Amino acid sequence: MTDLSWMTLLYDFVYKVTFNLTVAILAPFKQTSELYWVFLLSTIMIAWTFWRYSALGAGFKGVSSLGEFRRRFLSRDTWWHPSARLDYRFYLVNAIVVPVVMGPIWINDVNVSAWLASLFGAGQSAAVHPALHITVRVLYTLLFFIVYDFGRFVAHSLLHDVQWLWEFHKVHHSAEVLTPVTTFRFHPIDLAVMSWVPALLTGFLTWGFHRFVDSGIGAFMFLGLHVMIWAFNLIDNLRHSHVWVSYGDTLNRWLISPAHHQLHHSLEERHWGCNRGSDIALWDRLYGTLIVPSKEPEQFRMGLTGEPEGSWTTMADLYVRPFGNLLRRLRRTKPALKA
Ligand SMILES: [Zn+2]
Ligand SMILES: [Zn+2]
Repeated sequence: MTDLSWMTLLYDFVYKVTFNLTVAILAPFKQTSELYWVFLLSTIMIAWTFWRYSALGAGFKGVSSLGEFRRRFLSRDTWWHPSARLDYRFYLVNAIVVPVVMGPIWINDVNVSAWLASLFGAGQSAAVHPALHITVRVLYTLLFFIVYDFGRFVAHSLLHDVQWLWEFHKVHHSAEVLTPVTTFRFHPIDLAVMSWVPALLTGFLTWGFHRFVDSGIGAFMFLGLHVMIWAFNLIDNLRHSHVWVSYGDTLNRWLISPAHHQLHHSLEERHWGCNRGSDIALWDRLYGTLIVPSKEPEQFRMGLTGEPEGSWTTMADLYVRPFGNLLRRLRRTKPALKA
């Protein structure tokens, strides 16, 4: 290899690192990021509204209500907790590592749909009568969201129920406090599973629609995102927070509220593996893992049990410990297989 090609590789590497880091830091200005400023603002507004009108918040009148809100939810104890600081570092490093390491094997619904079309054929555009176009588009938009949400539930369930995948998902559950940045505390292998399964299912749906209904059909989008994902993003940052937002007995059986996901992070045995859904609660109901949160805040600690003290406190822990745990697990199971 000549000196010039080394220079090109180095330039390429520095460019990618700088670019990915800049994108991560400027996430509040990126419309498709969960940290887009509109979603962060809506998170604060919804949190404040729920707090103000909950029995707990109503107990603090006037200025002291705001003071109590800040003390409980915006305190240094949460936002500068060692677990939260690790989230911030991990977020930045993952922004570089994931595209470089996993980028070449990343798939999305468009890739899958195109691959199926190349194998089994594509349909005709404008096959649907113009009068039915909007109806079919609404149906596709709705179905896409349902299939996407189901794919995320399947992926999340695999991460909990398949022992070797759980070693990687532990990274997310090792968080001891929750902030919106915890949304990004995922090992790259965990991220791949959470991306691939929904991509396969939605890719299949898209191909089916294009092949048999109309190849010109696309979902309704808003600012670069599927319109329903955009709508749920207005509240989904509260899943990784300590603000208790529960939808009430009836709606809680159909939709995953932020409180559902906070229970999912509980280290108490009665909560283990519950509420794996993202936005639709039906999958957990059918799978027997739904725990409906109460209207009032519940008390429980978050994190992992059965792990040696200080197991998940460094960047090396988050990236490498899952592989070590996996090797130890394989060594333990080997004699059992021979016996
Ligand atoms: Zn989980
Ligand atoms: Zn979570």
